Amino acid sequence: MPPRDAAAGTTSQPQAAVSGPAPLLGAQGVAKTYGSVTALESVDVSVGDGEILTILGPSGSGKTTLLKIVAGFELPDAGSVVLGGQDITYASPAARGIGMVFQNYALFPHMKVADNIAFPLEMRRVGRDEIRRRVGEALELVGLAGYDARLPRQLSGGQQQRVALARAIVFRPRLLLLDEPFGALDRKLREQMQLEVKRLQRQLGIAALFVTHDQEEALVLSDRIAVMSRGRIEQIALPAEIYARPANRFVADFIGESNIFRARVTAVHGDRLEAECEGQVKAVVRGATPRRGGSDIALVIRPEAPRRLDDGETAENIMTGTVAEVIYLGDAVKYVLRLEQGGELVVRWPYLQSRRTLGVGEPVRVGWAGDLVHVVDWN
Ligand code: ADP
Ligand code: MG
Repeated sequence: MPPRDAAAGTTSQPQAAVSGPAPLLGAQGVAKTYGSVTALESVDVSVGDGEILTILGPSGSGKTTLLKIVAGFELPDAGSVVLGGQDITYASPAARGIGMVFQNYALFPHMKVADNIAFPLEMRRVGRDEIRRRVGEALELVGLAGYDARLPRQLSGGQQQRVALARAIVFRPRLLLLDEPFGALDRKLREQMQLEVKRLQRQLGIAALFVTHDQEEALVLSDRIAVMSRGRIEQIALPAEIYARPANRFVADFIGESNIFRARVTAVHGDRLEAECEGQVKAVVRGATPRRGGSDIALVIRPEAPRRLDDGETAENIMTGTVAEVIYLGDAVKYVLRLEQGGELVVRWPYLQSRRTLGVGEPVRVGWAGDLVHVVDWN
């Protein structure tokens, strides 16, 4: 299958008839093992036209393997990869017309910036004038106009990744794959690059599959997030949905900070549940998906949900304890509370100069409404 011939501005392959809004990229039932290691179990994932989907997961969860299969550097043991309506599972990497930026996808060190960026166009036999024009355009897009003649070693890490990005988009791919591309950059630069990638991706209308183990990066960049663990996708949803309604304990624990309490359902009144936590503390939950009495559940409480209660003040859920740790976060203060019932509760409150910060050892009563508790199965 020939690549999309961008020089002619046309598509040189027949377009498969697609009914309805099919995703641009669809991976279905993709599985891969290396010897006794299952890198991917059976992954289904799709990326819509112009969408950024982020694969977020800890190291070793299978993210790079999935990207390599989409890119064509690895073949899956089972499953298929469809791009723009065509099955590309076994197509060569060059034939896929996919742009790639990897953390260690080094530039050609002996080639000038302009030649690095021109490379994919030369592979596609684009004419010389057109190459010059497009390289200039790509350099401009990544904010490196005028850097044509530099060698990679004469650039900072951030600039090198911009060149890699320019090289990945210069042939106008339909899909961009990015595998932890900013992992080696310092925080500030990384944040700047995240916003730039998003701007660029929007501006060019390219769909992107972005891999990271950094949840903040995922939250900043993504239209949707797929959380991956041990070769499986645990949840695919909008960033806010992933944070507010994690599908299971793994996602609740991995995204943001969570207090997770094991509890047993003791009473069910419509969408209002009563449960008992360890230490016989009663919990009230509203708006959760229905559960049966006696089920084993996990209560997920984000640190910003509890508020400090004044004497005599009540709430649907109340816990008491003492301050065990005080952590300043600049705009907020995080407290680790040692609970009377046993265990700990982490709370995070905005830091206000006018309000006294609690000290270690101080007793605290906190409370929260039942609709601020998220429930997942314990298992
Ligand atoms: P991630 O990118 O999420 O860190 P990877 O996809 O690189 O995860 O790896 C997933 C699992 O597959 C890991 O256990 C890893 O050790 C294993 N793995 C990846 N590539 C190979 C390979 N070429 N040979 C053997 N094992 C591999
Ligand atoms: Mg990886």
